[in-house]
Parts: sequence; C-alpha cells; structure tokens
Amino acid sequence: MTESASRNAPLAARDLAHVWHPCTQMREHAAQLPLIPIVRGDGAWLADADGKRYLDGISSWWSNLFGHANPRIAVAIAEQAARLNHVMLAGFTHEPALQLAEELVRIAPPGLTRVSYASDGASAVEIALKMSFHFWRNAGQPRRTRFIALANAYHGETLGALAVSDLPLYRAVYGPLLFDPIVAPSPDWLDAEPGEGHEDVARRRLDDMRALLERHAHETCAVIVEPLVQCSGGMRMHAPAYLTGLRALCDEFDVHLIADEIAVGFGRTGTLFACEQAAITPDFLCLSKGLTGGALPLSAVLTTDTVYQAFLGDYAANNAFLHSHTFSGNPIACAAALASLSIFRDESVLERNRALAAHLAMRLGSLAEHPHIANLRQTGWIAAFDLVQDKAMRNAWPADERRGLRFYRHALDHGVLLRPLGDTVYFLPPYCIGEADIDFMVDTALGAVNAATA
Ligand SMILES: *Cc1c(COP(=O)(O)O)cnc(C)c1O
Repeated sequence: MTESASRNAPLAARDLAHVWHPCTQMREHAAQLPLIPIVRGDGAWLADADGKRYLDGISSWWSNLFGHANPRIAVAIAEQAARLNHVMLAGFTHEPALQLAEELVRIAPPGLTRVSYASDGASAVEIALKMSFHFWRNAGQPRRTRFIALANAYHGETLGALAVSDLPLYRAVYGPLLFDPIVAPSPDWLDAEPGEGHEDVARRRLDDMRALLERHAHETCAVIVEPLVQCSGGMRMHAPAYLTGLRALCDEFDVHLIADEIAVGFGRTGTLFACEQAAITPDFLCLSKGLTGGALPLSAVLTTDTVYQAFLGDYAANNAFLHSHTFSGNPIACAAALASLSIFRDESVLERNRALAAHLAMRLGSLAEHPHIANLRQTGWIAAFDLVQDKAMRNAWPADERRGLRFYRHALDHGVLLRPLGDTVYFLPPYCIGEADIDFMVDTALGAVNAATA
C-alpha cells in the first residue's frame, strides 16, 4: 500500500490541522516523525488504522498495567458511567471514592490514612507541595517556604511541579516563573566513583543531604524524591538505602518527605510501592499513572493523620486546605482504579512480574557486550541502557545526531513502541506481556540499536 492510499494518512492530516500534541516539536510531524493514528488496543499491543500492530514497550508513558482495553477495567468503567458519572466531592461522596480511599490506605505504607484526589500526576505534586507548605504555616512556622529537590528530578510540568524538577529541556524556558528549590545531588548509581557500590553512592549523597539540611532545615517544608528510579531523568536508579537514610534525616531535621511514586508505584520496581523496599513511610505519597491501570486520568495524595489534624480549626482561621479540582474523585476514574487494584488482589501480579523481569534481564544481558550499549541497568520492571559512541569511554553521541530518534523510528517500523529519553533506551512494558513478546521487543531493540548507531 502506498503512503497516500494508507488509511493512516487522512487521519494524520486531519489531526495535524488542529491537534497540538504534547512533548512534540510539531514541525517534525511533517518530515521526520510519523504521526500514527491508533484505533485499537488489545493487551500489550496497539493497532493503527492500517491494521499494523505495535507492541507497547513503554506502557503508553508508563501508565498501562494490565493491557489496553482490559476487559475487567472496561466493564467497571461502563457500569459506573451508567450509574453515576460525576458529582462534586465537596459536600458529597460516593462509593467509588470512599472505597478507593479505604483500599489505598490498606495497601500503602503504614501510617498514611488520608487521601486527596486530583486528575493528573502534576496536580498531585502541587497538592503535596501546597499541603506541606500550609502545614508549617498552620503549625506556627511560616518561615518554612522552601523545598529540597534532587538533581535530575522530574515531578510534572505545572508551575509548582516544574519548579522542583531539574530537567532543563522542560524547565529552562519557564525559569523566570518558577520558585527556586534547594537542589541536592542525585544518588544515581551511575555516578559511582571507581570502587564504589550502589550503597556507597547512596551514603555519599546522604552526607550531601545532611549538609543541606543543617543549613536549610529551618526554612524547608519538605524534601521531594522519586523513590528508586528517576524515570524522566533518564531511568536513573539508586539503592533503597538512600530512601531509608533520607527518611531518618527528614525525621532528625523535622522536615516532610514527599515520595513521588507517580511513575514507580503499583509494582513497577518489583514491590507494590518503591518505598516498601526501604521500609519507610513518607509524609506524602503521590500516585497517578498506573492508578487506574492506565485507563483514565486520576491521581491521589496520601498523607498522615498528623498532617490532617493541623488543618482542623475554626473556618475563620483559614487553615483548611481549600485546594480543589472540579473532577476530584471522579467516580468513573475511581471505579477503574478499584478494578485495577482488584486484579492485583486476585492474580499474583508481583510474583509473575518477578519471573518476567528476570526473563527481561536475561534477554537484555545478551546485549551487554554491544559496542554501542552502556550502563545497562534494571530495577524490577524498569530496564534501560544508553546509546554511546564508544563502550569503554561511555561517551554520548552529539545531541544533534538524534540517535534516540533514529532508534525510535526503526523500532516503530518493526512493530515495537519504544521511545528513548534522549539516547537512553528503556523498557517498561505492561504486566500482561508474555515471554515471547519480551523476546520480540528485545530483538527489535537490538535491530534498532544497530540501525541507530550505524
Ligand atoms: C509523569 C510524572 C509526573 C507527572 O504526571 P502527569 O500525569 O504527566 O502530570 C510526576 N512525577 C513523576 C515521577 C512522573 O513520572
């Protein structure tokens, strides 16, 4: 079939007349980047208007857990939509919102007992930042106005979330609009000095954090982290010991700890929540992406009774948390989340994932000797490597060569959706993927590496 006869072509042309896509230089859709109209999803696979299929190796931006158009989630959505599709959550409640809150409290690290809802990850981060700030005002410490964030962090792209993010690609141009966080070095294990193990890096970075807290704790509301994996920052990983130590430091210096598990929650790192691997409870836990199994936008912030109590008082004292979103706790989204969590309950998801993650590790291990692959790394269900010019030097390609983009296009042509972050290739498939599809994904990735580095 020629390009002009393709059913994809008219859909793409109509789209480009009006739709402004996220995270895209729109001009590239004319030439370098194909725009692919997807008409169907089934398990780990997507199908375009021409019937060509793509294995979704990145869970559609890390959101999909149990497959596209998962029947159990689809039925829950349809039933809820036919019964009650929305009512505001101020002054009203409904079974899906309260049941989901009960369920989240039951499965989250112990001590997190209060749940606020929003619709996107970035909005959840905004809630955590504002709640922490407001807590300290209510507690009679109004000089606490700052946040400590990690280098290479990503917490979303609304202004507050972007302020505590550290990726120049997204942040730099908006710098004049953003508050300045205190930036601590990332515990990224790729920064290990010769002879250092992952935990040594963690310890060294905890020393840096201690020094910052000694200087700034009196003006700091919270430290915000992405537990175990900084995903948008290039799938950079750290040892659980960093989180254990960070929790202890936050306790010692009496500042909040915000855990942004928007990307890593719901089993991505091997445990239901990444914080479990460090046996810690943060003061705020931000969840989104996989919360509904990837079917609908929904986010939640869990916090402690200590935080909650500080907002109780006379209305006139204005110490209530008046932050609101119209669709807070939307019943359909909550029903999708409950269906997704019921799959965790009924099937041994984490156990099965462990076996599949081991298979993925084994298959990726066979790429380890490739001359243009470096820094192969994996935490649970998240695996990544970097495309480099020379393996021994681990040196990056010139950015304008867009090797990652070449990889992306080659893999897509061959039926696999993998969307590198710069030149970092990563694998983060839905949990319903089987061993044969993992093999296909890795084989296709190898072909794409060869094409991109030729
Ligand atoms: C994706 C992401 C966000 C932002 O979530 P959105 O739903 O895209 O606003 C925040 N934090 C982390 C760690 C993320 O991966």
